Amino acid sequence: MNLVWHRADLRLHDNPALVEALKSGPALGLVVLDPNILQNTSPRRRAWFYQNTAALREAYLRRGSFLLVRVGLPWEVLPQVVSELAANRVYAVRNSTPYARLRDQKVGEALPGRVSWLEGQYIQEPGNIVKPDGGPYTVFTPYSRRWWAAGAPVLLEAPTYFPPTPLPLGLDLGTVPQETPGVPLPPAGEEAAQRALEVFLRDRLTGYHQTRDALGGEGTSRLSCYFTLGVLSPRLAAQRALQIGGEGARKWVNELCWRDFSGDLLYHRPQMMTQAFDPRWNDLPWNDDDELFEAWLQGQTGIPVVDASMRELQATGFLSNRARMVVAQFAVKLALLPWQKCERAFRDLLLDGDNASNLQGWQWAGGLGVDAAPYFRVFNLITQAEAHDPSGTWLKRWVPESGGKPQPYQTPLLDLHLARKRYLAVAEKIAKSEPQGSA
Ligand SMILES: Cc1cc2nc3c(=O)[nH]c(=O)nc-3n(C[C@H](O)[C@H](O)[C@H](O)COP(=O)(O)OP(=O)(O)OC[C@H]3O[C@@H](n4cnc5c(N)ncnc54)[C@H](O)[C@@H]3O)c2cc1C
Repeated sequence: MNLVWHRADLRLHDNPALVEALKSGPALGLVVLDPNILQNTSPRRRAWFYQNTAALREAYLRRGSFLLVRVGLPWEVLPQVVSELAANRVYAVRNSTPYARLRDQKVGEALPGRVSWLEGQYIQEPGNIVKPDGGPYTVFTPYSRRWWAAGAPVLLEAPTYFPPTPLPLGLDLGTVPQETPGVPLPPAGEEAAQRALEVFLRDRLTGYHQTRDALGGEGTSRLSCYFTLGVLSPRLAAQRALQIGGEGARKWVNELCWRDFSGDLLYHRPQMMTQAFDPRWNDLPWNDDDELFEAWLQGQTGIPVVDASMRELQATGFLSNRARMVVAQFAVKLALLPWQKCERAFRDLLLDGDNASNLQGWQWAGGLGVDAAPYFRVFNLITQAEAHDPSGTWLKRWVPESGGKPQPYQTPLLDLHLARKRYLAVAEKIAKSEPQGSA
């Protein structure tokens, strides 16, 4: 019997680890509740992970197999489970964050020669798309050209049933914990995710390229929380969209390419976790003002578009890409809040919180050297709201005191005009300084 160790791939469909494991006999699923990850995240994100783990257990049961749940450090738990079940091999879909790579190295050392690592978290695995000279890309457009040219890997079907799995008598399958998320969660599990995908494809894909920038996020798929935990295969999603075709589909799949690009950036530059991609930007005069940080986090700055965004995120765990860019730019370029602290707090609020995409998003929007984003592009927070929420409905919903108007509804905590001038003066000097090599 083989074990399929699920991490950021809480699904049976298009799961190469599962397909490989089943090639040589029965297979059992395993989720390890790793304190290094779970104790370092927020209740809402833990709850979302638990609910999707429970849904995966149901999916195994429906096909005649089981999902084991164990608590502990993976490099200690895996050898115990392998010996308890007399399992032959462990199969897992590769992850590539710095912690995941360290964890997997330790697991590989604890079970020498008995773990198979498969590709399946991304459409193109981090490290696979390289420049003609073999080096990593740092700019999205040339990366995306090669990404599109590479074509998508072949999709794998979910097995309809599992061969009977002989289990030791009295085996404790382990409990999936429950936690109160504090926000309404979307329906969990791969079937719900695939239904949500189909609704998006039917109703919003065609016009996606025109509607995706709405601040309220009504034009996009809202599938990110499924992609982050691998509940939905990005390869399946891309394939379904491209079958429908059109400009909207191409633009949408290009966003999945951004997801892969984010994974690739972090894979090649783990320093991005704490350092600016272009280290010169570490030298911005950061402002460790706790009061300003709290006001930003709670949506109490007095600036409607910033406050609506952060209040929506606090209340729902989701925020549109446009609103994410707005609050990240405000925090980094105008308030000069330490970006690492903001990125961390932001990730904990997002149901789709993901190291690679969040770091890329923060460093891109904050002009810290990711991609070719120009430092001097500083959003006008009034015109952003006018352009992307023209009726003011979204502003009014989250900041009723604004009356749906984008102008400050009270004296803002920051003079936007002065803050912009201050940032541009310093940023210009940094941009003209000698490059120090990227993070
Ligand atoms: C400051 C900031 C922080 C971000 N943090 C995260 C994060 O923690 N997790 C996360 O999944 N995305 C993050 N993003 C990217 C993006 O905002 C979200 O993926 C997107 O808004 C999710 O909504 P959706 O599923 O409706 O996206 P859609 O527009 O429907 O796009 C489809 C999918 O493509 C991927 N995607 C879309 N845009 C991007 C992007 N710019 N970068 C990487 N992947 C993208 C997501 O998986 C998304 O579900 C961040 C962006 C910024 C600017």
